[in-house]
Amino acid sequence: MFRKGFGLKDQVRDDLEQDYRSMIVETVRTRGNRLQVGDLTFLIAKEFGFCYGVERAVDYAYETRKQFPEKNIYLTTELIHNPRVNNCLRQMGIGFLNGPGPQDKKIGELNAQDVVIIAAFGTQVQEMEQLKAKGSILVDATCGSVVLVWKRVEQYAKDGFTAVVHGNYRHEETRATVSRATQFPQGRYLVVWDKDEAKLVCEYIRTGKDKEAFMAHFASKTSEGFDPDKDLLRVGVANQTTMLSSDSLEIAQMLKEAMAERYGSEQLAGHFRTFDTICSATQDRQDAMMELVKNHLDIVIVIGGFNSSNTSHLSEIATQHAPTYHIDDSNCILSDKDIRHKPVGKPVSIVTSGWLPTSGPLTIGVTAGASTPNRVIGDAIERIIQLRGYSTDQLKSALSS
Ligand code: SF4
Repeated sequence: MFRKGFGLKDQVRDDLEQDYRSMIVETVRTRGNRLQVGDLTFLIAKEFGFCYGVERAVDYAYETRKQFPEKNIYLTTELIHNPRVNNCLRQMGIGFLNGPGPQDKKIGELNAQDVVIIAAFGTQVQEMEQLKAKGSILVDATCGSVVLVWKRVEQYAKDGFTAVVHGNYRHEETRATVSRATQFPQGRYLVVWDKDEAKLVCEYIRTGKDKEAFMAHFASKTSEGFDPDKDLLRVGVANQTTMLSSDSLEIAQMLKEAMAERYGSEQLAGHFRTFDTICSATQDRQDAMMELVKNHLDIVIVIGGFNSSNTSHLSEIATQHAPTYHIDDSNCILSDKDIRHKPVGKPVSIVTSGWLPTSGPLTIGVTAGASTPNRVIGDAIERIIQLRGYSTDQLKSALSS
């Protein structure tokens, strides 16, 4: 199992720069995150784009290809939630065991000669056991911040506390996290998606009423054999690292109050624990978004995979302040009339017309999720500049002025 790369950073640097670097973004970063082209103003969040976990994972994937040029290499699933990065990896001949695209091989078909890269979200305990049993060469790109959540959940399980995880139970990271609880005979988990679901849990803690309805709602979001009468006596809260921080804190507080009401404040320590496991990169990007929306913004462009949790939450913040378009690549900007984007809370993208005012001063806020390469951000900015009728020379001049 390789966890620290192969010492090939220098050899893959050129490839990474070619695939993901953007001179526009780098220049704008050095100029107060502001770009003025004619009457078009871009204000870019102070923190955006690739986080430390994603940078490391992408670097590992490129190093793995370099280290094993002749071997079959597979990813457990998308390395990160960004279509351009995953396409680049496919073009490098790296296949997928799972994920939204074609499945190149099943775990059962792997052999000891194959190389498997574990995605940045990690993988479930059971899948890891299967991979080890196959004897394949494993390269672990799991982000350290995700591993910290796992440790927290394992500790809850060891101490007889049910892990209540604020997250998306379908998301790879949350599935990997809750699988840590089930390694222990007494380990239990329950996943809550939002404050409405947290209210249902709080209500059950307070009253113990309507077990059937409770289990009908949470059947797919709880560990096997979950019994709320026994498994909500002691709960420990954790969160998917990329959730909206304010929601996670509120959900933890709601559960704390319900437990205090049920068992009394003096008994709380024996029934309730919490630990904020939002990662610092997610927090920094959300804080920067909150700062950005203090400006007057005519529209906001949020760039990142449509299945990227942290990007969706940036869009959620922006939507409350200005018309917001969450795109996953510059090619979503179809024309100055149409844009393909994913509205907050909708399962799929839609096309909206009349998104870009074609004349008059315009201030556009821009941010990007933790899995978005600078190249994608730069391409989106350049595309908007072109659609407003400015030339490449005018862009160059704005960048050098
Ligand atoms: S968003 Fe956070 S947890 Fe996810 S890869 Fe980045 S740093 Fe790690």
